[in-house]
Amino acid sequence: MTIRPVIALHGGAGTISKASLTPEADAAARAGLRGALEAGYAMLSAGGTALDAVTAAVVALESHPSFNSGHGAAFNRGGFHELDASIMDGRTGLAGAVAGARRIKHPILAARALAKQADPLLLIGEAADTWAGQNGLELVENTFFSTDSRREMLRRMLEREQLGTLAQATEQEKHGTVGAVALDLDGHLAAATSTGGYTAKPVGRVGDSPIIGAGTWADDRTCAVSGTGKGELFIRTALAHSIHARMLYAGQTLAQAAQAQIDETARLGGGGAGLCAVDTCGNVALPFDTEGMYRGWMNADGVYVAIHEN
Ligand code: ASP
Repeated sequence: MTIRPVIALHGGAGTISKASLTPEADAAARAGLRGALEAGYAMLSAGGTALDAVTAAVVALESHPSFNSGHGAAFNRGGFHELDASIMDGRTGLAGAVAGARRIKHPILAARALAKQADPLLLIGEAADTWAGQNGLELVENTFFSTDSRREMLRRMLEREQLGTLAQATEQEKHGTVGAVALDLDGHLAAATSTGGYTAKPVGRVGDSPIIGAGTWADDRTCAVSGTGKGELFIRTALAHSIHARMLYAGQTLAQAAQAQIDETARLGGGGAGLCAVDTCGNVALPFDTEGMYRGWMNADGVYVAIHEN
């Protein structure tokens, strides 16, 4: 069987509502998604690995201010940024992750470097920053990640807390993460995820994105998954690993397994969930239960990019 490489990604569930997304913001986000897909797919079509492809795509998204990761990450309630990222190689089962990083320009590159070894898998906070610097990765001031629009979101969230209107916070104020999954020419899978978490999160809070099995999973026998949404629920439902387990042990298709895990988060109270996933045949699933999810995929047939419902 000829393998047709494919890359799929998300730029976060929970978008600006269709009515209030300006044409400029819409065009900027689509260009960012397309650029990331092209960066990843260029690697795949040249015979590169799925691991390289998802790394390239997430580096591109971390660099783009429209998305909540790297430059453009959400502020925590202390008014600074703590970044989470992870990556998993479906071929070897190796994984790497950082949580609460404050100075690593591209957290996904630190996760990738950690995934070259079995131990340590996950480093946190200052230790993650120090390790990244010692391993040749670029460090920046924490303010490098700041943008005016994320600062405004923090101001609005804190104001909502005072006014008691938190329940009315928009999906975009609450969500955001970037992630990519890929299948390469040799039939190997990989997944990568990077995030600033949610706006006004408590200092030290860690979400699902750096937790292998929650926000990220890849296994060559089944699928690669990257999640976005209420991280606490993704950890409690082991979202990404559960999709793999449904396929491996219950014989579900990727689409069935992915939708079932989105439904499972809703059963536990919801709060918004989405993911991108790909299986060993190159099928892509991009389910979400928010108003929109920045998303897309690319294979030899072309490129697809969307924000709200199709
Ligand atoms: N999953 C991320 C977190 O909980 C946030 C998001 O994707 O909306 O940190």
